[in-house]
Amino acid sequence: MRKKIVAGNWKMNMDLAEGLKLAEAIDTYFKSKASKAEVILCTPFIHLAGASEILKNGSVHLGAQNCASETSGAYTGEVSASMIKSTGAQYVITGHSERRSYYHEEDKLLNKKTLLAVASGLKVIFCCGEVQKERESEKHFEVVSKQLAEGLFSLSPVDFKNIVIAYEPVWAIGTGLTATPDQAQEMHKYIRGLVSGKYGKEIAEDLTILYGGSCKPSNAVEIFSKPDVDGGLIGGASLKKEDFIAIVEAV
Ligand code: PEP
Repeated sequence: MRKKIVAGNWKMNMDLAEGLKLAEAIDTYFKSKASKAEVILCTPFIHLAGASEILKNGSVHLGAQNCASETSGAYTGEVSASMIKSTGAQYVITGHSERRSYYHEEDKLLNKKTLLAVASGLKVIFCCGEVQKERESEKHFEVVSKQLAEGLFSLSPVDFKNIVIAYEPVWAIGTGLTATPDQAQEMHKYIRGLVSGKYGKEIAEDLTILYGGSCKPSNAVEIFSKPDVDGGLIGGASLKKEDFIAIVEAV
């Protein structure tokens, strides 16, 4: 059976003390009550080393939200995949729509980051999804197909096993709008089909595909009940301990 995952994306929120307090609270909760889903906290870079120390004896995993497209050297302000790995983190997000739109990260660059992250021993949560205009003009399948083909499909089958895909329709991120469970299922099934065409049925069936976009305790059960939805990537609601735990428990 493929792995269920709920990952929190804290984005650029919380100072060091606030973030470590939340990591500690979530770690404590899941030490007393095992969860069916793997739980991941994707924190800002500054929290990684401290959170890693807090989470080291528990079941909660740790990830970053971005990594550099180069291995090391004169890249002021960048953080490499191997630096992330050295904190004890296991995951990194690439291709989040906020990186694609505000920092103009395109598929070719995302491919480079993803390859480097996997080569550095990290697992990657690779985000894809269409903007509202693309959905309205019924280009959403085409858009997602291109993002996967250019961003991911140069990975070898062995490396691809370190990938989790997050489908995040951009019009649903932080907007309060959510894809309907049927819209999510339709796209997740399509993505699994693309992966099957490229890597074969077995790898596609093992692939965890997360939904992201205004997921909250009140809609999580319905979305997660779809057969191709294997959990969620959670933004806003991951900043509130109770909401995040309720979403994990919805799995
Ligand atoms: C995200 O940023 O990945 C996300 C899904 O955000 P939100 O849950 O706030 O829509």
